[in-house]
Amino acid sequence: LLVGGNPFATSSIYALIHALEREWGVWFPKGGTGALVRGMLKLFEDIGGRVELNAEAARIETEGSRATGVTTLDGRRFAADLVASNADVVHTYDKLLAGTQRGMKEAKRLKTKRFSMSLFVIYFGLKRHQPQLRHHTVLFGARYRQLIDEIFKGRELAGDFSLYLHSPCATDPSLAPDGMGSYYVLSPVPHLGNAEIDWSVEGPKYRDRIFDYLEERYMPGLKADLVTSRIFTPLDFQSELNAHHGSAFSLDPVLTQSAWFRTHNRDAEISNLFFVGAGTHPGAGVPGVVGSAKATAGLILGERVA
Ligand SMILES: Cc1cc2nc3c(=O)[nH]c(=O)nc-3n(C[C@H](O)[C@H](O)[C@H](O)COP(=O)(O)OP(=O)(O)OC[C@H]3O[C@@H](n4cnc5c(N)ncnc54)[C@H](O)[C@@H]3O)c2cc1C
Repeated sequence: LLVGGNPFATSSIYALIHALEREWGVWFPKGGTGALVRGMLKLFEDIGGRVELNAEAARIETEGSRATGVTTLDGRRFAADLVASNADVVHTYDKLLAGTQRGMKEAKRLKTKRFSMSLFVIYFGLKRHQPQLRHHTVLFGARYRQLIDEIFKGRELAGDFSLYLHSPCATDPSLAPDGMGSYYVLSPVPHLGNAEIDWSVEGPKYRDRIFDYLEERYMPGLKADLVTSRIFTPLDFQSELNAHHGSAFSLDPVLTQSAWFRTHNRDAEISNLFFVGAGTHPGAGVPGVVGSAKATAGLILGERVA
């Protein structure tokens, strides 16, 4: 599930992740994921890179079989010797290369693939830290296999859930003001291509059900102590992150959509168009997408040297 696969359908190759975790442990950046992002940004700027924030790419410009630049939604054009897209692979072919033969062909092919499940996430802050919680807790509901089936194939939201509860202050108190606690809880849910749930209506109700469950069993006083909360639903994965079907981990990592069978790091026809991120080789998760960036950087460097 942590790479977006159904444990009863995905390749056992992914059990290697757990073998690595047992051998070397599970890592968390002090300061949270934001610290990791800031660290990578600093490294990129230190080597001469420039980042444009709030600049949504609207189009990858092409001439014949070459990418020539990127146009942003606000109309700016950036000429380029090569383009690497970190956006969702379907979004890149379908929207950023809309109207090109390559874009249409590849988007059509990718849309026939299986996609990972989505997630419902609640980020929340409490005025009192809950010290009984470990950094990571997996909360299993009464059903397992059947619930997984409904998450991957169901047409509606299941009545029960299994949750992952994140309490990073257990390791790093700097993630909340003194004495307070920051948390998120996530529930794997069907993607929008399978279940057309109106999350603008269901989301707040689902949040309340999850809060009731947590308060009753694991986090006494949760609702009275709540200072802030934000939900992130499959609709947000779709609209804010441009994820196809609002899937949280892009292509479902079954064997025939894993490794070489995933979107290649370089396009087969537009030779200076590259890809990184969850939908590409080797796959989703932070180590996976960093691995994809390394693979893509290797291909680009190979071309520059050649
Ligand atoms: C709640 C949660 C917990 C997780 N926990 C873990 C964990 O503990 N460990 C782990 O390894 N993985 C974890 N993951 C998975 C991991 O976060 C993802 O697999 C990874 O971030 C995917 O990276 P990415 O670069 O492919 O996509 P993203 O991180 O989604 O980055 C793609 C970026 O492209 C932007 N974008 C999209 N379209 C455009 C456009 N047209 N123009 C400009 N920008 C665009 C998006 O806004 C986004 O910022 C978790 C995921 C979630 C949701």
